[in-house]
Amino acid sequence: MLKESPLNPSHAISRRLVGAGDFFLEPLQKGQTLRIVDVEGNQAADTLFYNLADIAERYSAVDTVRTQGNIYLEAGTRLISTEGRVMLEITADTVGRHDTLGGACASESNTVRYDLEKRHMHSCRDNWMLALAINEKYGLTKRDITHNINFFMNVPVTPEGGLDFDDGLSGPGKYVEMRAEMDVLVLISNCPQLNNPCSGYNPTPIEILIWDIA
Ligand SMILES: [Zn+2]
Repeated sequence: MLKESPLNPSHAISRRLVGAGDFFLEPLQKGQTLRIVDVEGNQAADTLFYNLADIAERYSAVDTVRTQGNIYLEAGTRLISTEGRVMLEITADTVGRHDTLGGACASESNTVRYDLEKRHMHSCRDNWMLALAINEKYGLTKRDITHNINFFMNVPVTPEGGLDFDDGLSGPGKYVEMRAEMDVLVLISNCPQLNNPCSGYNPTPIEILIWDIA
């Protein structure tokens, strides 16, 4: 379901361009709205959420899929925590489908999927690890990196039950927007992957906007 946002970018309290291979790690207060823009199209924003008051509670792909009875994320999807609580709700989406099954790229998956020589190429997992390492104040470590959302990624499940990493449904300027239902910590890796059609073999920037409580 496609749904445009009524929010005006000129009223956003924060706007930041995040380059490919860079990360975004910021708190979002209950009631605030976060928009991720796929600036040039076909990008992947690998995203994790934590309860700011208790980082042991975090986004759960399993509980989100089970609660809504749908493996894809779209407008109206409630992002559910490991404690079964609503963390955020997707309030607008001009893409139509986002993945939460495919996981994130890592040096291990680069090796298995592509080539031994790809092992040292930059990955989302390394990007998250860097974000946590230089932001010790949040108390997160590599054990806190669990299943994630891949905003803008199209990973259809085949009739045989496999996963296809397809060319994205997203395009230049398309966006997804969500409202926080609790104070959360947002961790995004703007995917640096060069070997996957999901990012068109050419990773590009995303823009992140935040609006204050309406
Ligand atoms: Zn990635």
